[in-house]
Amino acid sequence: MANYHPNHELLMQFAAGQLSNALGIMVACHIENCEECRAVTQNYEHLGGDILESLETIELSPDFISRTLSKLAEDAKSPEPASAAPPVVDARLPKPLQRFLPNTLESLPWSGISSSIQQFDLTISDRQYTARFYKIKAGKELPQHTHKGNEYTMVMDGAFSDESGSYHKGDFILADTSTHHQPKAHADCDCICFAVMDAPLKFTGFWGRMLNPFMR
Ligand SMILES: [Zn+2]
Repeated sequence: MANYHPNHELLMQFAAGQLSNALGIMVACHIENCEECRAVTQNYEHLGGDILESLETIELSPDFISRTLSKLAEDAKSPEPASAAPPVVDARLPKPLQRFLPNTLESLPWSGISSSIQQFDLTISDRQYTARFYKIKAGKELPQHTHKGNEYTMVMDGAFSDESGSYHKGDFILADTSTHHQPKAHADCDCICFAVMDAPLKFTGFWGRMLNPFMR
C-alpha cells in the first residue's frame, strides 16, 4: 500500500480549488517540495485554464496555486497574535503550514494517550476533516490499528515504517479501511506526522478496548 504521493484525483481537485482547508493545505505542503506532483498539478491548472478560455467567459489568472493557497489561508482563519510579537515559525515545516502553528514543534501543548504517542489538534480542522499532528517517540510503535475512514498523513520530521514500507519527510500516505498496520518510528529521531482524517482510528487487538474510548 505504499503511496508516497497524492493521487491524481487529489491533485486535480487541488488545482481546481475544490479541497477542504485541511486537505488542501496538506497537498500544498507536499507539492512545495515535490517537483513531480507540482508538474502534475500545473498540468491540471493549464487544462482547467484551457477549458475556461475556450468558453471565453472568464479572464483567468495564470497563478492558480497562489490563489488557491491564499483562499485556503483566508478560510482557515489563523489565530490572531495577542501582541505585536513576530509569529513563531518552525522552519522545518512546509511554508503552507507554518502560519497555523502557534509555536515550534517542541513547544506545542502535546497531549496523548502515552508518553510515546502524543498528538496536537490544529485550528485548520474543518467540518469534514480533523487535522492533527502525531508524534511517535524514536523507536516506538503505534498499537496495531485500522481506519474507519480515510486518513491522509504526511511526514514532517523523522521517519516511520509499517508493513508496506518506510516513509520519510515529505512522503504522503493514504490509509483507509483496508489498511491494517502498526507504524513504528525509526530509532534515530522522534517521528512527527501531519494527519488529516475524516474518521477516527480504530485500534484492534489487545489495545483496542483500552484505547478506542479515547479516540474521537
Ligand atoms: Zn509528490
